[in-house]
Amino acid sequence: MVQEMIPVVKNMEVELLIENLGHEGEGVGRYQGFTLFVPGALAGERIRAKVVKVKKNYGYAKLLELLAPSSDRVPPPCPIYKRCGGCSLQHLSYEGQLRFKQQLVTENLARIGKVTDVKVLPTLGVKEPWRYRNKVQVPFGEHEGGLVGGFYAKGSHTIIDMDSCLIQHEQGDEVVRAVKAIAKRLGIAPYNEETGKGLLRHVVVKVGFHTGQLMVVLITNGEKIPRQDEWIREIRREIPSVSSIIQNVNSKRTNVIFGDKTKTLWGEDVIYDTIGELTFAISARSFFQVNPVQTEVLYNKALEYAGLTGTETVIDAYCGIGTISLFLAKKAKKVYGVEIVPEAIEDARRNAALNGIDNAEFVVGTAEEVMPRWAKEGIKADVIVVDPPRKGCEESLLQTMLEMKPKRIVYVSCNPSTLARDLRILEDGGYKTVEVQPVDMFPQTSHVECVIGIQRIDT
Ligand code: SAH
Repeated sequence: MVQEMIPVVKNMEVELLIENLGHEGEGVGRYQGFTLFVPGALAGERIRAKVVKVKKNYGYAKLLELLAPSSDRVPPPCPIYKRCGGCSLQHLSYEGQLRFKQQLVTENLARIGKVTDVKVLPTLGVKEPWRYRNKVQVPFGEHEGGLVGGFYAKGSHTIIDMDSCLIQHEQGDEVVRAVKAIAKRLGIAPYNEETGKGLLRHVVVKVGFHTGQLMVVLITNGEKIPRQDEWIREIRREIPSVSSIIQNVNSKRTNVIFGDKTKTLWGEDVIYDTIGELTFAISARSFFQVNPVQTEVLYNKALEYAGLTGTETVIDAYCGIGTISLFLAKKAKKVYGVEIVPEAIEDARRNAALNGIDNAEFVVGTAEEVMPRWAKEGIKADVIVVDPPRKGCEESLLQTMLEMKPKRIVYVSCNPSTLARDLRILEDGGYKTVEVQPVDMFPQTSHVECVIGIQRIDT
């Protein structure tokens, strides 16, 4: 569309019919054919909106008035919903959220991957779509001379003080409140991003949903914590179920939460949690899925699509701390896991031992380098599982997979658009997408996770 044909200008008020939702859950409508994104508007709604930003092919508008609200609209229960960037679908009923996620996957597969001949099942939701997260990370700062701890306001670095976050486990919330109160009582200075001064940067709390164990990680700018003994005593007194108090030192001027140095101030180095029958040790730095209830649902689906009988060799590329590998190992002859982060591989090995699993082998490296090596060594995979980050699989890895010719591929994806791109390559290489199962790992947010069963055509 050429510049002069854009039918809107900044600050113009328009009436729109919202046709569907974009990938962040924002409403999408058209004004004289020109696409406008309207955060907070729902599909089917007629609204009045004010144009706030105009680009070449699309623009953004602010919702002013609901002329005809959707029957899926619900009041968002969180008092800081509008200011916090964390969740974006609280105004949509949970059933509506599940439908949106199924639709988004279907549309992406068709539009980007031209994958249309496949069943995208209804999203598997949870009974309780609140209080599901096992890890809370709260930044600290100063506001009008007082210590605040909460969330960065949408699109900025201003910290909004927060008492409770409705998608966090209650105990995560409770610990944050206690740490904040103790910090104020002991006169601990919060970190100031602009000056690089102040001590307390973040608190991270990890909750073992099934074990009830709690880990508190204080991330500090510098090693010395004044009145450290009092800190520990107070935390233990206020939250007796804390089993581990950890300090992580981060003195760099960066947005990255963790620094390189971690030490245990009191208690255990790790907490434990279970997924299905497996137990995992979780350290301050290691990655663990944040929704433990749905993780089990996700992995069971992966197990189903892997179709194991006990004789198979399985490769788990992008294995993280080996959660999927170990889940599959009990039903397979042998599992090989590969992962780029060395600490995660250490955790994977430790977790294998913890669960008495001896048919899983873990290697540090990129999947795209290690898998061709395995192929050369003569390892024949019957099933390959991939669970890549948002950018999807490297094309060279997909080519290696095609050369290794596993009977089945299980793709676990957190990004439907890169998934669609990768499925096209696999389909062109002789595979068929059999079934797609979206699993809601992140209720109230627009994040979409799915598991895909893929089969070699000649079997
Ligand atoms: N399957 C695991 C982790 C999935 S997250 C689980 O369910 O817990 C994706 C993982 O891929 C991360 O641990 C990340 O460190 C790893 N990763 C990213 N790029 C990689 C690459 N090129 N090769 C191997 N692993 C990679």
